[in-house]
Amino acid sequence: METTPYWNPLVETLAREKLQTLQVRKFKRIFTWAYEHSKFHRRLYDQAGITPEDVRGMADIRKVPQVEKAMMRDVQRKAPFPYGDALCVSLDEVTEFRQTSGTTGQAVYQADTWQDWEWWAECWAYILWAQGYRPSDRVFIPFGYNVFVAFWAGHYGAEKLGCEVVPGGVLDTQARILKIQELKATALMATPTYILGMADTARKKMGIDPATLGIARITCAGEPGASIPGTKARMEAAWNARVYDHAGATEIGAWSYECTAQPGGLHVNEAFFLVEIEDPDTGEIIENPGRQGKMIITALDRMAQPCIRFDSKDLIEWAPEACVCGRSFRLIQGGVKGRTDDITKVKGVLLSPGAIEEVVRSIDGLGNEFEVIVDKLGDMDQILLKVELSPGYEDQAGRLQDNLIEQLRLKTNLGYQLEFHEYGKLPRYEVKARRFKDLRKKH
Ligand SMILES: [Zn+2]
Repeated sequence: METTPYWNPLVETLAREKLQTLQVRKFKRIFTWAYEHSKFHRRLYDQAGITPEDVRGMADIRKVPQVEKAMMRDVQRKAPFPYGDALCVSLDEVTEFRQTSGTTGQAVYQADTWQDWEWWAECWAYILWAQGYRPSDRVFIPFGYNVFVAFWAGHYGAEKLGCEVVPGGVLDTQARILKIQELKATALMATPTYILGMADTARKKMGIDPATLGIARITCAGEPGASIPGTKARMEAAWNARVYDHAGATEIGAWSYECTAQPGGLHVNEAFFLVEIEDPDTGEIIENPGRQGKMIITALDRMAQPCIRFDSKDLIEWAPEACVCGRSFRLIQGGVKGRTDDITKVKGVLLSPGAIEEVVRSIDGLGNEFEVIVDKLGDMDQILLKVELSPGYEDQAGRLQDNLIEQLRLKTNLGYQLEFHEYGKLPRYEVKARRFKDLRKKH
């Protein structure tokens, strides 16, 4: 019953001009809704002197004040508890509680109504269909179902497509691998860290080659790894599967996806989201490809706790070319490149942890794990990079060291202290990895 490569053929191939008209119309609708139903939004917009009547085109949208995560933290834990007055519906209508992971500060609570929850599933249906999921797939989700949104929505999106979904909740990694084998699952959703970790456990602890398990596709989220070529290649080789990236967030929604063409970037679901890229220094909106800026995003249809011109802190840039898959949704090049708050200056040079990951994972003979420690030696910044030697490469540290130093210099313009460790000695992470440590602030 294969009919179309698109979940929504009309919307995904809409001419850009019509797509923009749709975005403006939807923006005006969600802006009016928030203005009329939330005291938080009304205060914000009244202070800026902007009302729904003022929003007629894209240029007007850019005058609407941005919302930052810290502003959401300030209104929360007050009435209506626990969401505060950013909430646009009565508590009776809220059916879903989720919260952000809190890695950059106190967690933010997120309310959704059932209508919002169906919208989440619809967003995920675009993602999964574009990545080749079909009703014949049996999707195993090795995810500790809890207060975090990731993969809850993937679960419902897969069901909406007609896939068979196996919740791999509280099972441990070995039990999950056995379940995948027993049920002949065809697809997986997890963070890149966990996908690589599961493969490792299968091989080392169970004598099972994950490439033989019959997984055809893997959808990653939560970390940028599936858009980092070296990490993607390692996952694809380990599982003999196609690996696809997706970026989303609790307070935004599932806003982007890679398609089966694997174009080296993510499509923005522009029917459901308006993405603007802003130059962090000048505030100018970047329309052209090739220039990185921070993402300002609006979820055009999310009603309970709206996301309107949210400063996501994600660093992205537009891709120069349209995708061969025929979607008119724009691509962002190379996925999410990092976050404005995790790009650090070392020796006066901007350093993104993703750049180091890209180098480490592209060198054969180095294990998947690594650790970066930035510290001060006297007045000088110093970067220590710890890596592992893969089994069979124990005597090749010297050769790998030269290659690693050279690649790091080319990619990041910085010099590093290196430490080689035996395989299995660096910390392993279950879900999201914390491989980057900046100790300079402690001194
Ligand atoms: Zn595409």
